[in-house]
Amino acid sequence: MKVHKALISGASIAGLSTAFWLGKAGWEVTVIERAGAFRDGGQNVDVRGKGREVLRLMNLEDAVRERTTTEEGTVFVNGKGQTVGAFPVEDSDGMTAELEILRGDLARVILEALPQSIEIRYGDWIERVENGGEHTQVELHSGRTETCDLLIIAEGVRSKTRDNVFADGVSRRELGLNIAYGTIERTDRDDRWWRWYTTTGRRHVSLRPDNRGTIRAMLAFTGRERNLADLSKDQALAELRDIFTGAGWDSDRVVEGFASSDDVYFDYLTQIKMPSWSKERVCVTGDAAWCVTPIGGGGSSLALLGGYVLAAFLSQAEADDPTGIRAALDRYEKWMRPVIDDAQSLPPGIPNLFYPQSKAGVGTVRTFIRIASFGPLRRLASRMGHTARSGQKLPEIRLAHARV
Ligand SMILES: Cc1cc2nc3c(=O)[nH]c(=O)nc-3n(C[C@H](O)[C@H](O)[C@H](O)COP(=O)(O)OP(=O)(O)OC[C@H]3O[C@@H](n4cnc5c(N)ncnc54)[C@H](O)[C@@H]3O)c2cc1C
Repeated sequence: MKVHKALISGASIAGLSTAFWLGKAGWEVTVIERAGAFRDGGQNVDVRGKGREVLRLMNLEDAVRERTTTEEGTVFVNGKGQTVGAFPVEDSDGMTAELEILRGDLARVILEALPQSIEIRYGDWIERVENGGEHTQVELHSGRTETCDLLIIAEGVRSKTRDNVFADGVSRRELGLNIAYGTIERTDRDDRWWRWYTTTGRRHVSLRPDNRGTIRAMLAFTGRERNLADLSKDQALAELRDIFTGAGWDSDRVVEGFASSDDVYFDYLTQIKMPSWSKERVCVTGDAAWCVTPIGGGGSSLALLGGYVLAAFLSQAEADDPTGIRAALDRYEKWMRPVIDDAQSLPPGIPNLFYPQSKAGVGTVRTFIRIASFGPLRRLASRMGHTARSGQKLPEIRLAHARV
């Protein structure tokens, strides 16, 4: 009997989730990853909504729960570290979700659960794609050539293969927001809350606990024609020093901490928009297809979900039906499109409204937070964390030996 063959490029949440399910559906799957080894890095991400449903179907919910960052809620503080408004974990999906985990831990949990048949090759990437007819042929940097029924690009927001294959079919919406993430030392003053500090000059500082005894810090700013991700690390750190030194609360500590942290990561938030997520025998998934950015929220949940939905429709394609894969890609797109449109549509003024320039603006934001943190309003405000939601039922997946 003919077995379908997939090549997946990118071994993070989207690529591994797709590999997990396609492998279970009986496809022959190879994953290639540009990095020389599995990437363990990354800061706090969460699993919400339909992403959680997928995690449960994978039987990995407990494994994730055992590795959470143990965050107890989100609190907004003033320049002295005093509470402006607090949002404790009250349900699975508040500002702090019940399942908060480091990105590398989530990726590793999926990696370790992959069906044994899946081959992962590190340190290789695609140089050329020939897409047409009933197969796709790919030339790899290593000199190997691969032929597959479907190439799945899961290379993240800055995917090169996506840009080569889809060219004009990729557009970007820059949100004008720079974020620097990094790990710093924990001190006695740190607790188990995600602490947010908003200050003048359109700047934010945040500190989050992790399960390693360190603190995950973030410096974010808008309103400057700057993309720190384009600078060298030293230049970007010098910019951060200029912008955040003396900004109040723990900003100096974070600036100093980043100077000696070896995992500082710069992101210039960019949504990816594509009118179509597939072209003949190539498709995209995860951030490469629809990056929603941390402002839209739920990037990891959507990557988990996208992998399942894609594999579920593909599993329904009969191996001897030449139109089956194309039909599955259309159904994947139809299912995922409203979920992504919802995550990418930001209310007017977001993110700038929450990044005020003046003291008066900061006062307004704090008043808003103080009011929102009371009683029923608190639950309403926490709904801002509701992402990766859909009224649609997950499509059924045909597994090689059983059904889910
Ligand atoms: C190391 C790392 C750290 C991160 N840290 C954070 C964070 O702190 N906070 C946050 O909100 N999000 C972070 N993210 C992004 C987050 O993982 C994604 O938003 C989300 O989980 C969706 O994942 P994805 O699999 O679509 O893309 P990504 O997680 O971006 O993964 C893409 C994968 O493809 C690989 N890749 C890229 N180009 C190629 C290529 N040409 N050929 C082969 N492989 C390629 C990358 O090495 C990576 O492993 C991080 C991602 C990575 C890779």
